[in-house]
Amino acid sequence: MSLLLGCIADDFTGATDLANNLVRAGMRVVQTIGVPTSPLPPDCNAVVVALKSRTIAPADAVKQSLDALAWLQAQQVEQVYFKYCSTFDSWYSGDVRGNIGPVTEALMDALSCPFTIATPAFPDNQRTVFKGHLFVGDVLLSDSGMKNHPLTPMRDANLVSVMQAQCQRRVGLIDFKTVALGATAVTSRIAELQAQGVSIAVVDALSNDDLYKLGPALKDMRLLTAGSGVAIALPANWGLQPSAASAQLPPAMGLKAIVSGSCSLATQGQVAHFLQHHPAQAWQLDPLKWSGNTPVAELAAPVLQWAEKQLSHGPVLVYSTADAEQVKAVQAQLGQAQAGERMEQVLAHIAQGLVRLGVGQLVVAGGETSGACVQALQVTQMHIGAQIDPGVPWCHAHSPSAAASGLHLTLKSGNFGTPDFFTKAFERLHGPVL
Ligand code: ADP
Repeated sequence: MSLLLGCIADDFTGATDLANNLVRAGMRVVQTIGVPTSPLPPDCNAVVVALKSRTIAPADAVKQSLDALAWLQAQQVEQVYFKYCSTFDSWYSGDVRGNIGPVTEALMDALSCPFTIATPAFPDNQRTVFKGHLFVGDVLLSDSGMKNHPLTPMRDANLVSVMQAQCQRRVGLIDFKTVALGATAVTSRIAELQAQGVSIAVVDALSNDDLYKLGPALKDMRLLTAGSGVAIALPANWGLQPSAASAQLPPAMGLKAIVSGSCSLATQGQVAHFLQHHPAQAWQLDPLKWSGNTPVAELAAPVLQWAEKQLSHGPVLVYSTADAEQVKAVQAQLGQAQAGERMEQVLAHIAQGLVRLGVGQLVVAGGETSGACVQALQVTQMHIGAQIDPGVPWCHAHSPSAAASGLHLTLKSGNFGTPDFFTKAFERLHGPVL
């Protein structure tokens, strides 16, 4: 099987979200943590290279993205997809207007690509674009919670102007009326925009139907830039259809565990649900009881001793998940950055310890927590399997800490998943694959 689509994602859980959409639409996908240093499995036809470039300096984001592109070009991928957040998250600081524009233009230059699209639309996740304006649910991006985001505050919902502020090239719009007419109309509109000197177009999409109409018009575009939504319509351009085979992973083996460092509301509900049903199988970490210089291994040791006994009774949950008030108290005692970093280190050490104890099916809750756990487990590539809940698939990876058969892993970003996610996830691993 040849590698058809090469993707560059600007963050880790965003990469998984994109990979998940591609698998659901019929592709065999591997996600790599950074630019791969070892060969990919031969049976995949798309790869998503996960970077952490969303909120770094634009020059660094460009360099990392070009390094990823060079590797993708060496694999002779047919199309390149630059994936960013469906809320178009752009880092603002002083003169810096965000990384999406600079990375897009650097990739266009490197690929000699005369025209590309920019659309974060992801209707399944209530992100729609109308007349170039991004809506989050029922409100404009600039009226959504994103206006107060600590790193990437989005105060303008007009993506044509947001993107134009980040680009040297001219930015235009392919509006919903054109998209509704289908691929031929979109292709004509692209020619019209190019004749006007426009090289990048924001594309409206209000529904998955719009994305499916847009898909065929993107077939020969060397570079696409988008959220994960556009991906649902791409595999069909290579004649691929949704199939259980694309999500097939090796059989799951080993003990089951959940490690949760997410304090998001959805995770709080999932922890509460697990505690209600399996109170004896859960261990809560209390950072207020930690003294400043206790080594991470010492903090993890009693948890792992407890887990060694409990794992034979069913899945165990180790969590630091807490509500906003508790988190505030911890941050007041340890400092905001230190509290987060220390907890991530402890949870990652525990995740590694659990895998060494024979855990072969691991759920991790929290974006940053997932990054720390994957790093501790030295995972560099993940085969993407079936979706548990929107945006959260099971994955299979190899790790020096795991058995030779590898490890099944799911990485849940904070606000994803239904309240029963922690129990449902293990049931899904043994259930139907799509
Ligand atoms: P989410 O995806 O929900 O945002 P993350 O893992 O990305 O979850 O972020 C949660 C952050 O909160 C991490 O840095 C984690 O270490 C930190 N954290 C977890 N539990 C606590 C706690 N009880 N007190 C303070 N910080 C915590």
